[in-house]
Amino acid sequence: MDPFDSNSTDQANLPRNMIENSMFEEEPDVVDLARDSTAFPTFPALDPDEVVYEPRSSRLLVRGLGENDMDEDEEDYESSARLLGMSFMNRSSAHRSNSSPYTRQAPPRSCSRPSARTMVVCVLFLVIVASMTMVLYFLPGCTFTKTGCRKPNQTAPIEPVYPVSTNGELFPWAQLRLPQSIRPVGYDLTLNPDLENMTFTGRAVINMSVRHDTNRIVLHSANFNITKASFKLGDEKARDVTVLEYKPRQQIAVKFSEDLKAGQFCVLTLEYSANLSHTYDGFYNSSYSDKNGKKRVLAATQFEPLSARKAFPCFDEPFFKATFLIRISRKPNYMTLSNMPKAKTTSLPNGLMQDEFEKTGVNMSTYLVAFIVADFSSTSKNVSETVVSVYSVPEKKEHTDYALDTASKLLEFYNNFFEINYPLKKLDLVAIPDFLAGAMENWGLITFRETTLLVGKQSSSLEKQVVASVIAHELAHQWFGNLVTMRWWNDLWLNEGFATYMQYMSLQTVFPELDIGNLFLAVRFRALDKDALNSSHAVSTEVNTPEQVEEMFDSVSYEKGASILLMLNASLLEEQQFRKGIIQYLKQFSGLNTGTDDLWNSLTQVSTQHQNVSEMMSSWTSQKGFPLVTVSRKGDEVTLTQEHFLLTSENATHTSSLWNIPVTYVNDSCSLAPECRQVFTLKTKSGTFKLPESVKWLKLNYRNTGFYIVDYGDEGWAALLDALSHNVSVLTHEDRASLIYNVFALSRLGRVSFHQILNLLNYIFNETETSPVTEALLQLNNINQLLDKRQEHGLVARMKTYILHHFGSLMDKQTWEEEKSVSKQELRSVLLETACSLNKENCSQQAKALFKQYVESNGTMRIPGDLQQVVFTVAAQSAEDWSTLLSMYGHATYDSEKRKMLRGLASTQDTRHIVWLLKAGLKGDLIQTQELPLVISTVCKGFAGYLFAWDFIQENWDRLIEKFPVGSFAIQSIIKSVTSQFSTQAQLNQVQGFFSSLKERGSQMRSVQEALETIKLNKRWVDNNLSALQKWL
Ligand SMILES: [Zn+2]
Repeated sequence: MDPFDSNSTDQANLPRNMIENSMFEEEPDVVDLARDSTAFPTFPALDPDEVVYEPRSSRLLVRGLGENDMDEDEEDYESSARLLGMSFMNRSSAHRSNSSPYTRQAPPRSCSRPSARTMVVCVLFLVIVASMTMVLYFLPGCTFTKTGCRKPNQTAPIEPVYPVSTNGELFPWAQLRLPQSIRPVGYDLTLNPDLENMTFTGRAVINMSVRHDTNRIVLHSANFNITKASFKLGDEKARDVTVLEYKPRQQIAVKFSEDLKAGQFCVLTLEYSANLSHTYDGFYNSSYSDKNGKKRVLAATQFEPLSARKAFPCFDEPFFKATFLIRISRKPNYMTLSNMPKAKTTSLPNGLMQDEFEKTGVNMSTYLVAFIVADFSSTSKNVSETVVSVYSVPEKKEHTDYALDTASKLLEFYNNFFEINYPLKKLDLVAIPDFLAGAMENWGLITFRETTLLVGKQSSSLEKQVVASVIAHELAHQWFGNLVTMRWWNDLWLNEGFATYMQYMSLQTVFPELDIGNLFLAVRFRALDKDALNSSHAVSTEVNTPEQVEEMFDSVSYEKGASILLMLNASLLEEQQFRKGIIQYLKQFSGLNTGTDDLWNSLTQVSTQHQNVSEMMSSWTSQKGFPLVTVSRKGDEVTLTQEHFLLTSENATHTSSLWNIPVTYVNDSCSLAPECRQVFTLKTKSGTFKLPESVKWLKLNYRNTGFYIVDYGDEGWAALLDALSHNVSVLTHEDRASLIYNVFALSRLGRVSFHQILNLLNYIFNETETSPVTEALLQLNNINQLLDKRQEHGLVARMKTYILHHFGSLMDKQTWEEEKSVSKQELRSVLLETACSLNKENCSQQAKALFKQYVESNGTMRIPGDLQQVVFTVAAQSAEDWSTLLSMYGHATYDSEKRKMLRGLASTQDTRHIVWLLKAGLKGDLIQTQELPLVISTVCKGFAGYLFAWDFIQENWDRLIEKFPVGSFAIQSIIKSVTSQFSTQAQLNQVQGFFSSLKERGSQMRSVQEALETIKLNKRWVDNNLSALQKWL
């Protein structure tokens, strides 16, 4: 999935929060089986995945099997249980620590001779331990339990505690993750959507195999009215069965009086009805107005991560792969699409048509299933064995050419790069009018927002860059995610980090003219921003609740994942090792599920020089954060020291985290070409290497391909600044941007003064490249925003003078005509947007004039794509033009331009307009609700609206989480937007008060924790730097 607002680098900044597992605490309808034995007279035999939990204080797991009979499935099961915070009995601790990806091995310690004093202390300690052990050994084991000792003939040590189904019977399963004893083999689905009444009926025939003896089948299902259920075992006759439902976990179950035996096959058939969803997940309805203004309805799906269960009953976890045969009925004037090509169409007696799709030839996870009922039109093209098609509403068919061409080229690239051909006969890319995410990689049927797929012939290359990069991301998923899938959501980064990395890598190769490198660099900076907070999480991290699954779709999984893959690829010793490793990985695990270690092992296996990739990379995936590397030079010796770069408002927090860092460096004798780059691996707290004393300066993290920050110390910084002020071209533009990013980050950490920032920026008069300029402006604008919201008007005015002084001449050099180069468009749009936002006179005048011409031309004149934002934003500042823009927004059909108009509208400083926009976005008719996060983030940037926005989300929280699930990226982005510019104690108290009052409606989100940390850090930074700003600005 590509969840982000792909038009901005804000996208990298989405937050996430750790949720304490509430499933063990808030279960009012849980019944203790032991106390209610009449309800369930025979105690069910424990099957291999039988687990029993007790409330949080003593979670134990009881297994019915002997000690050493764990097969591959159980190991997998064990890892699931581990994710649920459970401990295993019957398992040697050695085995446990080996198999756990979350326990890091202690480094081997060297033997040293202990002192006499140590010996005495040790002996005393051993005596005490031995006596305590003896006491405990001779005491009955049950002394400290509430119930006292059991009678010896009782075999089951602890009874399971099951919840109650909707019909009052006990539900035979007590966990969030499904049992492993039954596996789905194939689904045969028939769906009958009724787009007039917004309902659908379905029939799911689920073929399953029994892996272990069990007396129940448990699967997912959400809000269905199940009208008929039958079960068939092997060759027996089908019989009706009762389906139990436990709604809080969206699970249903069938219980059997006799065990199903391992090796048997069985079929569960369920008929059901449900409403089409009114949100953006499950099987949902969507609509748009055609060119005659007539409302047209359609239905589409979005299942990742947990919503396939809202369209059909299923084993809705990525591990349960199966085949799918899908049939959908429709009115004759509609068409349907699904993952596979259509096999046949038949007329139904009720006048409808039924389309049947080919059965999937590959096993697929449920979250990748998709279907659409609409009246779209398409264009197609053959690429080797695959028909590639792009679908849109008929009015926008002419905007599909670019996507078709781009997808075809990228498909060819990936087929060659991975040395595995895309396995399906068709690949559809569909633009859906109502779509919350950026895009979704459903196998063979990729769905997009209109903005991320459709571009007109006139569109700027910057708009094409957005479309190409989303297509590149989703196509990469057809291998990473679809062919090889993470076992569970804890390793979501294997999907998303990889697709994100491949998206940049493939574009650099296939479409170098799109200059994707600047965006990738900016995205890595934003990933560092977020990962510097204490609320961040390890790339591969525990996930226990649905909210936590939602929260995994964040910048750590996507952008940090991609960043560490870039670092790895840049540090591998052998040519093509990265590519060989992933080919090996994809071939070895094709059709299967994996964990993070599988990837590292594949990359290690292909190394002819035995480079241990696992050793290096596990330090980056198993712990949160990243290192700060400090450089000091003495004579010919350079010492590097690493520590956790942790932004914290408490000064004394230290962690002992260490990383295995492939530190790269260049120096004044050779600093630009890739051959100049030298590598030093820093695994320990500090390390040294030699460098001739004649070397004037060192720049670490060549082209910023590593995921760390560097502090050069006063002398090191001074030497670099000296070099840059003589000649900016002594370093690559990525290296210059990296210095700017680093100095601001160090200031936020409290390591360097604001004066040091200004010192470095003295070189900027000679800077003309996009990355360094945009990074410097972004950082200065952030500070300006903080000061503005603190009402430090004097400082805001001085900051304006400073920015105009340093960037004014570059701003003046920008033209207002069509510009071809993407990089120059990026530079120009940032410079002009800043200039106009600071009311730089010639900028506002130009923008107003262009808007006037545009309005007067009645749609015949075009504003260059990269300038539309600044023009609409300036226009929206006058009441009259705001109304003109609003009416243009209402009529605009071209989505990308429309969004820029909306951003313009939301940047108004008229509070009545702001309140109107927020309400309209929530209502969803004039402004689609999918755009509400964009409206909120734009409003929050301005002074007039940011407090209104904060009130708005407090007042409408429940309606917001109806539209955007708790933990989802939309909610993450809303929270970040409204809180990231607060910097006072009063604001901190308000935010804390509001979110803690939400309880299960969102108080536990990682983004809330991140918001609180950010406010504290803002407060500290402003408090510490106000006087310096006054002195130096
Ligand atoms: Zn993705």
